[in-house]
Amino acid sequence: MSSRCSWSVRTEAFVDCTLDRYLPFHVIQKGTMVVWKAVTTVVDRIGLCEHRQILMHRIHSHFNIPYTGVVIVLEKEDYQTYHNHVWRQTAVHLNIQVGGLEEMSPEHLLTLMRSQDYSNLIWLSKQACEARDICFAWILTHELRHLEQDLWSHTLSRAGRFLNCTLGRINMEEPQVQNAIPTELDANLCAWRVGRRVFGAEIVDTHVQNAPVGDNSKQSFQILRSHDPDKAYDVFGCTKSLLQKYQSQFKELQKQSEDKFIATFDIDKACSELSRRPNSVQ
Ligand SMILES: [Zn+2]
Repeated sequence: MSSRCSWSVRTEAFVDCTLDRYLPFHVIQKGTMVVWKAVTTVVDRIGLCEHRQILMHRIHSHFNIPYTGVVIVLEKEDYQTYHNHVWRQTAVHLNIQVGGLEEMSPEHLLTLMRSQDYSNLIWLSKQACEARDICFAWILTHELRHLEQDLWSHTLSRAGRFLNCTLGRINMEEPQVQNAIPTELDANLCAWRVGRRVFGAEIVDTHVQNAPVGDNSKQSFQILRSHDPDKAYDVFGCTKSLLQKYQSQFKELQKQSEDKFIATFDIDKACSELSRRPNSVQ
């Protein structure tokens, strides 16, 4: 059974955020008020130790997480062979309200998504929850940044997902690795920046320097290291540039794709929307 606790996340950072800035709507369906606005909750299925809970609070304090509408699930089971690849990942952020729910999901996650209590789900695998502090913090921060990106602009999020699905299938100059995708690089730069504040610069810089083995990860970390985490990174501009740079290849790929999301993603509309960078972006 899941132990579902209302996380005492209501620190100043949380109280400060205006609900209307993030969740300006109620959705009415068949005469029923759909909430999407239950108080932001952590579903701690793994049972974090106190030390980890404190670490989580410290990470949360670096974000303006909405007071309502977000659920963070800390998983206790492994889904590395699960038929839906979403749950085979180390962690994921999903906008359930706009992006819809994942129909093929473990029962407890399906129940949570169908509840319509939360608009956004962040899920950390058992592997992520059991990783050492610095890795756990990195993964959690990375996903919280994806949430932040989505709150700034769902188009940015969708563009990131589109690039994630397609970059490996076109000819491009850049290495085909995670950090070639601006939304991923931005999430990793944020994890690096927040990690420095939580653990100290030296520890986290060493972590970043000690690139993981494997060619892909090595190349990906090289891209990361070529940036200064404390300098602003233009995730909107870089996403737009990448979409424009390879748009003829993307459009060709879209014609052949049977994946509805890939086939219907409107590149021109996305580029036009990405030109309008919201003032709230940090
Ligand atoms: Zn990511």
